[in-house]
Amino acid sequence: MKEMICIVCPNGCRMEVEESDGRILVRGNRCKRGEEFVRSELTCPMRTVCSTVRTAFPEAPALPVRVSAPIPKDQIFPVMHAIHEVYLTRRVARGETVIRDVLGLGVDVIATSGILIPKQ
Ligand code: SF4
Repeated sequence: MKEMICIVCPNGCRMEVEESDGRILVRGNRCKRGEEFVRSELTCPMRTVCSTVRTAFPEAPALPVRVSAPIPKDQIFPVMHAIHEVYLTRRVARGETVIRDVLGLGVDVIATSGILIPKQ
């Protein structure tokens, strides 16, 4: 038996997980999402990545970005590396793609701030 903490919502349920005969038994989760989280963690753990990219604009030298959907946990560092290679020379709006299909994962890196777009 192992203990896992669900990170899906702020409740942070502490769960007991038991694997037997190919079945996964979960106790301590307050909702179904906890069980789904355990199954995902045991088979293909996924994570969201937030970071910043460098820009050519002195008023905003770093632009906040995130992946548009969770990525496999073992791809976090390669994706962070790809993000850190970016040097933006065009102004992008919030939600606009900064890296399309990063590392072929089927996920984009998108801007989470509109600080590069001058206010009118
Ligand atoms: S099991 Fe449900 S209630 Fe508990 S932390 Fe996960 S999502 Fe939140």
